[in-house]
Amino acid sequence: MSESPPSPDALKQLAPEQLVICHECDLLMAKMHLADGEKAQCPRCGFELYHHQANMLTRSLALVLAALLLFVPANFMPIMSLGLLGQHNNETVWSAVLALYQSEMALVALIVFLSSMLIPLLKLLCQGWVLLTLQLKLPAGFALWLYRIYHQMREWGMLEVYMFGVLVSIVKMVDLGDLSMGVGLVCFIGLLVCQIWLEATMSEHQVWEMLDELRTEQQVDEVMDEACD
Ligand SMILES: [Zn+2]
Repeated sequence: MSESPPSPDALKQLAPEQLVICHECDLLMAKMHLADGEKAQCPRCGFELYHHQANMLTRSLALVLAALLLFVPANFMPIMSLGLLGQHNNETVWSAVLALYQSEMALVALIVFLSSMLIPLLKLLCQGWVLLTLQLKLPAGFALWLYRIYHQMREWGMLEVYMFGVLVSIVKMVDLGDLSMGVGLVCFIGLLVCQIWLEATMSEHQVWEMLDELRTEQQVDEVMDEACD
C-alpha cells in the first residue's frame, strides 16, 4: 500500500505523530492506518516504511521465549568436538571466549563475549519486557526507555557474524582430525533463526504506536485519579 502524495499545506496541519518520513529519500508523508498484513511504501522511492503484523504481540512473545530457552545451550553446550592425536576437545562459545582471554587476546575475547553473548541476551530481555508491558499493561515509561536502549544495541549484537566465523573454522578444520557437530551448534542456529524471525515479526511501527497509546491511557488515568482525590 503506497502513501498518498503529500500536499505541503495539508502536512502543516498534522501533529508530528501523524507524519512519517522515508529513511531512504527523506520524503515527508501523512501516516496511514494499515490493516493486518499490509505494508506502507514510499510513493517516491518504493522503500517499505512500515508494516502491520497480525497477532504481533503473541507471536513475538513466543519467539522471545523460544530464543531465551535456546540461549543457554547455544552458548554453553559444545558447538563442535575435535578429535586430534587421540584427544577429544569439546568447544563451546563460552570456552572460545575463555581461550581467547587466556591467549592474551583480551580485546578479541571481550568483543566476542559482547557481540555473541551479552548484547544478544540484553536485546532479547529488552524485547521481552517491552512485549510483556504491552500484554499486561505495565507502566509504559520504563518500556519506552528500554525500547530506545534496544535500538542503540541493535548494531552491536552480531550473532550472524559469529555464526559465519564458526562455519569457516569448521570447513578449515574438517581435514585436521575427527570433527563432529555438537548440540550447541543446532541450538545456536535455532537461536539465530528465532532472532531473525523476531526482527521480522516485531513490527517497530506497531510497538512504538502501542507504547504511545498505553502511555497516553496511563497519563489520562493519572489525571483522572488526581482529579478524583
Ligand atoms: Zn522514499
